[in-house]
Amino acid sequence: MDKLIDHNKAKDFLQLLKDNERIVLTCHVRPDGDAIGSTLGLWHLLRTMGKEATVIVPDKAPVSLSFLPGFKEIGVYTSHKDFCEKTVDEAQLIICCDFNVPCRQDSLAPVIQGSHCKKVLIDHHTEPGNFTDLIFSYPKMSSTCELVFRIIAAMGLYDKVDKDCATCLLTGIITDTRNFTVNINNPDIYDILMRLLEKDVDKDRIVKEALNTRSLNSLRLEAYALSQKMEIFPEHKCALITLDQEDLKKYSYERGDTEGLVNRPLEIRGMIYSIFMREDPDCVKISARSCQDFPVSEICKTLYGGGGHIQAAGGEFHGSLEDCKKKFLDHIKDFDKYLIKG
Ligand code: 5GP
Ligand code: MN
Repeated sequence: MDKLIDHNKAKDFLQLLKDNERIVLTCHVRPDGDAIGSTLGLWHLLRTMGKEATVIVPDKAPVSLSFLPGFKEIGVYTSHKDFCEKTVDEAQLIICCDFNVPCRQDSLAPVIQGSHCKKVLIDHHTEPGNFTDLIFSYPKMSSTCELVFRIIAAMGLYDKVDKDCATCLLTGIITDTRNFTVNINNPDIYDILMRLLEKDVDKDRIVKEALNTRSLNSLRLEAYALSQKMEIFPEHKCALITLDQEDLKKYSYERGDTEGLVNRPLEIRGMIYSIFMREDPDCVKISARSCQDFPVSEICKTLYGGGGHIQAAGGEFHGSLEDCKKKFLDHIKDFDKYLIKG
């Protein structure tokens, strides 16, 4: 279980946990199940160890994660700036989960970077930035939650994992692997599942709450997007969905309502990749997914200054939705080289 983890680093991390009392756990903007699962999972562990820990996130998490134990205790920077700044200011240790570079924290980035306390990065994205004292970067892992579990095991703290901690960690694994269907590079993950189930976790409830429960509006928005706003480019084996502000308003869009939408076109026989562009108030948010190792991260990186993983990536475009779409269509041919021949 812990064999993939550098044991010297695990030892250093354990020492940092022992030496410090006030600990902040933080993650990326628009937090998902893995970001919230990994920070809250560690939060439960640290509290079991008697630490004064606080989870601080850049902005609100989707309501689909509100079932997680401890969710209400999370400090949201955009809602409670003073509290978050004071907590970060008083922190002796900051643990950064599920992001690789400070800018992934948006307006919270300068607050975290402004702190002079020790920092640790725990992440599964490629190209980790050099902004922490200790780096656990394992891009092969399905999720940051898988990595957190392995680090906990390497530190010899499995016994301190309680049901709440295990629930949070399993949630991140389940959301990042879409219930064990994608992103699994190592069969050990099933061993980890077993170890988490030993903690009496309710797996079916996690799947139901985090993946399979939504509002009527969000279901209708997805149906509308698939029937009216999806374009197919058969020669490029690609589908593109765009939703503008008017579309979102019509279905009373709330954060998280389009979660999973980008995966749906991959259900079409022969489809290799799918791009979703959503016109948010501050930017166009791009989400991309693929199968057969088509690197959508390249598209997000080269066209939209983003990144992520080979089969799941994202980015932002600062301009109109129309220009965002045009940029992709102008370059769509450039990515044909990644399509498997024949
Ligand atoms: P999602 O499509 O679910 O928002 O994100 C899929 C993956 O891409 C996640 O691993 C996420 O961290 C990454 N990602 C999403 N948006 C961005 C972005 O704007 N920049 C970078 N570097 N990665 C992103
Ligand atoms: Mn993740």
